[in-house]
Amino acid sequence: MGTLRELLDLIKNGPERDVAESGDERIASLKKTLGAICPFGRRIVDAAEAKGAVFCTDGDLGKRSGVYHPATGYVVLNAKMSDDVLLSSIVHEARHALQPKGYTHEDTVKSAIMLNRAMEGDALAFHSVAVGDT
Ligand SMILES: [Zn+2]
Repeated sequence: MGTLRELLDLIKNGPERDVAESGDERIASLKKTLGAICPFGRRIVDAAEAKGAVFCTDGDLGKRSGVYHPATGYVVLNAKMSDDVLLSSIVHEARHALQPKGYTHEDTVKSAIMLNRAMEGDALAFHSVAVGDT
């Protein structure tokens, strides 16, 4: 299933999708490994899920290892990447899911860029501390 279809499915069916029923064994495996090597990183992912984030994989992300889509709460990880890369990405994107809402229409271009840098720096710090920067 492609990313667009995943997003459309969420928009159509709402955010009540149960991750355990999604059949994404790769996500379950990553979470298990993360819990074994870095409980702190696992807690970040668990907190994002508790806030409503839905984790899944997809093969249509190009060179991106992961993305968080705030409007739907989806964290999509690139299925073509190695577990080492995705262990970092899952923490990074989970951190984005926990960040307060970003831009508003009151932002200027400059303030939006500054906010984006702050949000990326925050997520980078969390995934670097949790599992290292791959
Ligand atoms: Zn980021």
